[in-house]
Amino acid sequence: MSAYLDNSATTKPCDECVSAVMNMLTDNFGNPSSLHDLGIKAMKEIILARGAIADSLGVDKDEIIFTSGATEANNMALFGAAKAKKRLGNRIVTTAVEHESVLESAKELEKQGFEVVFLKPDIHGNISEEQLFEAVNKDTILVSMMYINNEVGTVMPVKSISKAVKRAGAPALIHIDCVQAYGKVNINPKKLGADLVSITAHKIHGPKGVGALYVNKSANLTDQNFARTFGGEQEKRLRPGTECSPLIAGFGAAVRALPNVNKQKKKIKELNSYARQKLSKIDGVVFNNDENTSPYILNVYVPTFMRSQTVLQELSANYNVYVSNGSACAKGKKSHVLTAMGLPNEIIDKSIRISFSRFNTKEDVDLLASSLDELVKTHPIK
Ligand code: PLP
Repeated sequence: MSAYLDNSATTKPCDECVSAVMNMLTDNFGNPSSLHDLGIKAMKEIILARGAIADSLGVDKDEIIFTSGATEANNMALFGAAKAKKRLGNRIVTTAVEHESVLESAKELEKQGFEVVFLKPDIHGNISEEQLFEAVNKDTILVSMMYINNEVGTVMPVKSISKAVKRAGAPALIHIDCVQAYGKVNINPKKLGADLVSITAHKIHGPKGVGALYVNKSANLTDQNFARTFGGEQEKRLRPGTECSPLIAGFGAAVRALPNVNKQKKKIKELNSYARQKLSKIDGVVFNNDENTSPYILNVYVPTFMRSQTVLQELSANYNVYVSNGSACAKGKKSHVLTAMGLPNEIIDKSIRISFSRFNTKEDVDLLASSLDELVKTHPIK
């Protein structure tokens, strides 16, 4: 038996995705730009995938730009927005708990002379609407915020960004990193007032190495500002290069296989409550996130227990249970999210993240709880 509970890091590709990728690697291998039948057939799959993603967001097909993932989409969004708007102001508002791909891009822009405000969360990881309203002024050219935090599952005040921008009379573009929200909550960039939205396939049972940036066409963002690479005509010159048709087709198939968001959320909520109930029975366990967070993520620590690095290695080696100690991209570095929340090192070092997907069951939770319980009992730290 095994339990994969690290779905915020990545998910197992679904069957639909695997067969779509295989088809593109075998029968449908043409270059999508070729004018012969094989090229046209490959391009059809890209059009289909783009359509599925656009429909899932309620936007137009030509507002979806395929990238190598959300890291690239986030980089494009931040540098592109800064370049497009730099004549109109100098302030960028983001948070201290963004994914590294936003944080590092923002720090780079800071080095280039932009004033970057990193909003700090409270002890539960929340950022308030008031903080946002206070930070956005008429000099603000970009607000970049994640929808759901990848480590603790807090829901950010993304629905209030456009109000804050309008109230300040700011020329700001709005970028939302929807990686941990896509497929889990209904996202409509138009309703959110977002100009730029990043998503990635591998968090929704699609393949790694492919993502997309939604670029609002009425924001008139051209390749002059947004292109980070230069070459052919693909992806409206914003992201040229032969399209990665196998991964794009796999992304499209994973999107088409997504179940109804609300039905799925109900199932995950039940699983989350079940996990909370089971884990609470373990001596000393503390939850770092409250019940207002996304049900897909649980963050816990046991004060009398080993460091998370050791826990997750023990769980994987001896019990076939897979969890993590924060963002996979940070590779064991101290969590910047828990640090920004003001948690002491003692907690940060011992915290583990459990993250669910639609394929998890109560049996997975049972295995996690019994394995952790056994570990805590056999490896107490006085
Ligand atoms: N943004 C968030 C919130 C994430 O959780 C991740 C991945 O962990 C990324 C961006 C980066 O996505 P990708 O792995 O596609 O580069």
